[in-house]
Amino acid sequence: MKDVVRFGICADVQYASMKSDVVKEKRCENVGSGEEQEIPRAGSVERRLAYRAALERLLQAVEVWNKQHVAFVVQLGDLIDGYENDPELSRADLEAVSRAFQGLAVKHVLGNHCRAVRMEDIRKLLSTDRYYYSFQPVLGWRIIVLNGAEQLISAADATESENAELAEVLERQGIIDYAPWNGHLSDIQVDFFRVELDSASRRKERVLVCCHYPIHEDAARKSHLLINHAVVLKLVRQYNTTVVALFAGHDHVGGYTVDHGVHHVTFPAMLEASEGSDGQEHNVEHSPNAFGIVELRANGDRILIQGYGDVPTRVLVAGGAEG
Ligand SMILES: [Zn+2]
Repeated sequence: MKDVVRFGICADVQYASMKSDVVKEKRCENVGSGEEQEIPRAGSVERRLAYRAALERLLQAVEVWNKQHVAFVVQLGDLIDGYENDPELSRADLEAVSRAFQGLAVKHVLGNHCRAVRMEDIRKLLSTDRYYYSFQPVLGWRIIVLNGAEQLISAADATESENAELAEVLERQGIIDYAPWNGHLSDIQVDFFRVELDSASRRKERVLVCCHYPIHEDAARKSHLLINHAVVLKLVRQYNTTVVALFAGHDHVGGYTVDHGVHHVTFPAMLEASEGSDGQEHNVEHSPNAFGIVELRANGDRILIQGYGDVPTRVLVAGGAEG
């Protein structure tokens, strides 16, 4: 096995073939009920949703990833925007995006928008049966991928009985107000996560967790957290000498915080890469984009994120320091 592994990273490509390239609307703080309130976030009143250009941006990222010989790519979910009540059209978009990776090995993280496509089609297009899993990218490290969109009431193929069951589970936890775009981990998946953390801890491995949804309210808007974020956060705190960082997407503006020595990184969306990203150190040909290359060293104690466009370059040291 190699001493160093480098892999590509991106969040929320959110490509759509039929929607206009750039839509401008007020960025609002969404509240749990799904209603929008007019609370523009400071410094970013307009949103630029480049649905079609997102595919070009992904192709540009793929070019950089290939030049840099990354071992694989982690896409953090929401590859497509999707169409409500039209899983066929959504499927066609997912097919187009999956082709754009051009043979690169991709570790998929499912997002809520991906689930505008039926699971049986996702399985075929992304060539995978597993949506929460772990793997060893390099000696001494374990990447745990969670499927935050496992239980999602807005999924194209979520049945009435599944949604009723989820509502019941949430009611038992006292959760009655949640956004339809946020997902929930089943008890089985939470158990999987616990077992993985325990096994990594016993083997003295360091862990990077990847989930579409942020789980810490200082790393994203509260309206964009995993529904049972508290359960996952509690486990992460319990294993805070094992977990170095969590990578998420979903909240397009991105975010970052350190909690109990663990880095919580929310990657900004490729879809909404800002014109303002022009001229940044790692900007690609001065066009808006948002992606990165992550480097892990065998038995190392830090994660290097080389950012392109809107993604900041960071060195995340185990224990919570930034290098
Ligand atoms: Zn999302």
